[in-house]
Amino acid sequence: MIRKFGLIFLMLASISVLAQPKIVLKLDDVGANKVSGNKADQTMAYLLQMNVKASYGVVAKWLDETALSLLGRYINAKNAKGEAMVEIWHHGYDHSNSNPPSKNMEYKGTSYELQKKNFNLGDSLVRKYLGLQMHTFGAPFNAVDSTTLRVVAENKNYHILYCFPENTDSEKQLTRLNFRIKMENGTGKTNLQYFLDECEKNNAFSSAYMVLQGHPPQWNVSQFEEFKKIVAYLIEKNCEFVLPSELK
Ligand SMILES: [Zn+2]
Repeated sequence: MIRKFGLIFLMLASISVLAQPKIVLKLDDVGANKVSGNKADQTMAYLLQMNVKASYGVVAKWLDETALSLLGRYINAKNAKGEAMVEIWHHGYDHSNSNPPSKNMEYKGTSYELQKKNFNLGDSLVRKYLGLQMHTFGAPFNAVDSTTLRVVAENKNYHILYCFPENTDSEKQLTRLNFRIKMENGTGKTNLQYFLDECEKNNAFSSAYMVLQGHPPQWNVSQFEEFKKIVAYLIEKNCEFVLPSELK
């Protein structure tokens, strides 16, 4: 009997040692419209086929009335447990970097009025075209300031922030997913070895989670292949892929 319990203890201990960080795929710059279609379609189809959860940052201005027909099968996809496979998150209204006062990015150094207007526009256009309420925000260029925090906090539907170092959150509790490991060596340039080096440098496999940022609409064939290798590596390591709202 004692030997049996000892064995069970050993098994439990080894399972806890093997616990891996949760993986949050933060895939940026998704649009869906009649001019360009959905340039992330290949990536989205691949991840769904692999049963891998992923979150996609849409730029609301890049959506039109064809968006739901292009994205609907992903938005509605569920796994065997009935959980959503995809989360759509707010990645700005227009992804601009030419705003007053001095060619500012959409959410850094711009006025409260502009940030508020763009945030609300992004939110309402996604409701209009995709029929869903977003809960996560990640700014274009990951460029934010304290005004952005105020604007996001003013909308009670938002609970999670991607890559948001600003620390003046007095309005309400927002979960910040700031631990990001790079898998692109420069925007779009996905590379397995680079990712492994970044993991090593940042001790990533000792952490509870890691955010992996990528830009599927920009990937060429070999960059997409590198991304697939990264996903395969993480699956091999028994990592669980989760949506940002699951880490709330
Ligand atoms: Zn972006």
